[in-house]
Amino acid sequence: MGIPLLDHRDVVKLLLADTDRVVGALVLDKLDTDSPSMGFSVVLADHVVLGTGGPAAFYAASVYPRVHVGSIGLAMEIGAEAVNLTESQFGLASTKFRWNLSGSYQQVLPRYVSTDAQGNDPVEFLVPYFSSWHELTRAVFLKGYQWPFDAAKVPDNGSSLIDLLVYHETRIQGRRVFLDYRSNMTGDASWGPFGKDQVDSTALEYLEASGAWDSSPIGRLHLLNPSAIGMYRSNGIDLASELLEVDVCAQHNNGGLYADIWWESTNRRRLYPIGEVNGSHGVSRPGGSALNSGQVGAIRAATRIAGYGQADALDVGQVLAEVAPAVSGMLGLSHRWVSNAEQARTTPRQSKAQLDAILHAMQQRMSKAGGPIRSAVVVGRSYAEAKEQAASALTTDSAVPKVLLSKALRLRHMLIAQQWYLYAVARYLENGGGSRGSYLVVDASGEPAHTALAEYRIKPEKTGLRNVVQVIAAGEDGELLERLDECRPVPAESFWFERVWSDYQSGAYLQPPKP
Ligand SMILES: Cc1cc2nc3c(=O)[nH]c(=O)nc-3n(C[C@H](O)[C@H](O)[C@H](O)COP(=O)(O)OP(=O)(O)OC[C@H]3O[C@@H](n4cnc5c(N)ncnc54)[C@H](O)[C@@H]3O)c2cc1C
Repeated sequence: MGIPLLDHRDVVKLLLADTDRVVGALVLDKLDTDSPSMGFSVVLADHVVLGTGGPAAFYAASVYPRVHVGSIGLAMEIGAEAVNLTESQFGLASTKFRWNLSGSYQQVLPRYVSTDAQGNDPVEFLVPYFSSWHELTRAVFLKGYQWPFDAAKVPDNGSSLIDLLVYHETRIQGRRVFLDYRSNMTGDASWGPFGKDQVDSTALEYLEASGAWDSSPIGRLHLLNPSAIGMYRSNGIDLASELLEVDVCAQHNNGGLYADIWWESTNRRRLYPIGEVNGSHGVSRPGGSALNSGQVGAIRAATRIAGYGQADALDVGQVLAEVAPAVSGMLGLSHRWVSNAEQARTTPRQSKAQLDAILHAMQQRMSKAGGPIRSAVVVGRSYAEAKEQAASALTTDSAVPKVLLSKALRLRHMLIAQQWYLYAVARYLENGGGSRGSYLVVDASGEPAHTALAEYRIKPEKTGLRNVVQVIAAGEDGELLERLDECRPVPAESFWFERVWSDYQSGAYLQPPKP
């Protein structure tokens, strides 16, 4: 298609012209930072498709690939509206090698155990919250089918009570949680020993029908899904001989940038957020739909771009003049950081430690305030901290050696995005929003998640908010603003073949009216 591929480059700033038209990006070639340009170049484009994924590095507990960070903050920086930022998906995943623990990993009924930070004091922490083998094995088994944390599946010892208990151990108690496939749960002394007769009937029927009953979890996993064992083995973890560390991890952002039915930003022309960065995934994204949605978005955006044709092609000279202040601002900041590092003789190791500390604080905050459990007090405090961190963490006085420039520039836009996310959650709670999708809102007025978990009182969903989407935008002075838009109606028209065919043949469908 004649679109050049520029590898090993980070987009470090999106460029705007004509107030609201996205015209390209400032990019950093990470292999060229020693050149006179320090690796920076400007790429102009008539259309900018942004496929930078979810906020992958925002959370302390995350199952996103480690190499991904997300770049939604770049679009927020230029004022692109965002939608449903409150909505994400969380679930149980292994943390050393990041992988979702759904399906057979739960269906074989592993032993859940928590330890102190050093790996001592093992406790079967789930047991006190269940009254029988039947209840406990049912919840663990169902966790396989019902993988994401689901606010609706916490009460009545549902499968998401397990995620809540894991969260409580790791985030609140500061302990570590592991799955043990080597031995069965010990359970409560009054339940008697674990055995086939004690297992919930749904779980047992499934395991027997699959020819997968065995006396140990690893034996059952070997019979049910041997490649599940092989997958960990090929990533350096032997489930037959070691514990598997887990946490309740961020896996997907259902919200993101706000776009129209052609995946073009609602307020930044020629910007097309596609894939996970587009906020079109809804409160309860059906499993498996993210990849399809990314493909649909790409086709819609490509169709829209084809529809524009050569209309309003960029006037390069004029655009370069318009973007010059933004470009020189970023170049000035980067040169300043590098020269500060040279003057202060800041080593890459020192700088990396400083940048890692900024990231670490941000990740801890996001997992505590914007993760699966949310409360107004914690979110309000965290939003204030996020604003403070964004103002003070990376300033013109920061010292960053060239080799860490891309890392610092990534942090810069992550700090912007963090404020948007926490502002969205804070406003949602102020609007009276309750538990839904993949998070619990805890509030003194709610019902306890469990009789032995009085600190988690579940505020119910405010169903009136189902008809609206929460839109976050930047005001004229950069302050964040919220508005609630009615959800778009699900299309109900039945298409008349002759009209559709004629529109297709004439190309009229390429110029659809804006919604
Ligand atoms: C463990 C796990 C399991 C999943 N399982 C499923 C599943 O079974 N089915 C399903 O439908 N979905 C699943 N998902 C979700 C789905 O994989 C993601 O939503 C999807 O891959 C996102 O695709 P994307 O193209 O939008 O972004 P990504 O695949 O994240 O790609 C974004 C790309 O942009 C690059 N990038 C980011 N910022 C910049 C920048 N500033 N400059 C240059 N490049 C940049 C990144 O390096 C990356 O290559 C899963 C997700 C996870 C984490």
